[in-house]
Amino acid sequence: MAEKRIYNFSAGPSMLPLEVLKKAQSQMLNYEGSGMSVMEMSHRSKAYDAIIKKTEERLRTILAIPNNYKVLFLQGGATSQFSMVPLNLLQKGKADYIVTGYFANKAYAEAKKYGDIALAGTSKDKDFTYIPKQQELALNKDADYVYLCANNTIYGTEWKYVPDTKGVPIVADMSSNILSKPIRVEDYGIIFAGAQKNMGCAGLTVAIVREDLIGHAKEFTPVMMDYAPLAEKDSMYNTPPTYAIYILGLVLEWIEEMGGLAVMAKRNEEKAKLLYTYLDTSDFYQTQVNPSDRSLMNVTFRSPNAELDALFAKESAAAGMSNLKGHRAVGGMRASIYNAMPMEGVETLIAFMKKFEEENK
Ligand SMILES: *Cc1c(COP(=O)(O)O)cnc(C)c1O
Repeated sequence: MAEKRIYNFSAGPSMLPLEVLKKAQSQMLNYEGSGMSVMEMSHRSKAYDAIIKKTEERLRTILAIPNNYKVLFLQGGATSQFSMVPLNLLQKGKADYIVTGYFANKAYAEAKKYGDIALAGTSKDKDFTYIPKQQELALNKDADYVYLCANNTIYGTEWKYVPDTKGVPIVADMSSNILSKPIRVEDYGIIFAGAQKNMGCAGLTVAIVREDLIGHAKEFTPVMMDYAPLAEKDSMYNTPPTYAIYILGLVLEWIEEMGGLAVMAKRNEEKAKLLYTYLDTSDFYQTQVNPSDRSLMNVTFRSPNAELDALFAKESAAAGMSNLKGHRAVGGMRASIYNAMPMEGVETLIAFMKKFEEENK
């Protein structure tokens, strides 16, 4: 039975590759002859051990994660990392935060509970429509770490360079662009991401942590927020989010079959280029974001007024596209076009946009 699927432009939880959903469906009742669903398995069983090990191995291969990094499968969302990072990394007590949007600002506010936190750069002066350049950053070489949000899901900006921090570890929130392109993991001290945007389903947070940054948590740190016991027990200090890890495994398998991150990057560039090129040629729509800082994952734009934005959201939903309404902090529209969004989804969106423009200009 082929269900009618729509193009889901949600920022997260977001669409998954159909192949992944079908495979999960086919394995739902009886995983590889085990006689049970992955959901029903003990996390300490042999069958599950193979799933989590294979998932980590695939992630290590796809992202080329060096051996001196631990991969942690955690819960609590990306938001819990806003607390875990300062609790684990503040030793001298100072950190530099670069605030380029909503989630970076939340992380900054949270970190202030634990130490001497400096605002080392921000794009608030222009409503977060750009990424600060290296020379605009005021970095302290004595900081314990430098924090940034690699892709600003709500405003639609993305870092296109890794700042030079003179050896101070960079902590990057990659919730909305991890696995969208190859990266150099060794440029970062910690990379973390909630899985529900580009890695799988909600309930899982992945943290890739350089080993020397583990084991320095403040003594009052709750055990579930301390990287050390979680790393020592290979994410099995307690029950990990077993099914979400399994889904990540299927997504990674799909990425492998598609040809890996270089292929993902090319597809993502093509999709984003098509959409931005159309936005640039239209007098009806506009995008506020500085062209060189445009996100390949979350494309924000607006029509001439808020009434038309609301009509756009309504009519696009009726035309088989969901979640195109922008975040309330920005207004307008947002098309999230993660790995799982096919080119045809973007083409369908642009065809709708052209028609809407004709009818409403
Ligand atoms: C969605 C998102 C978050 C919040 O993730 P949760 O898993 O809901 O805590 C944090 N940072 C970025 C960049 C996001 O896109």
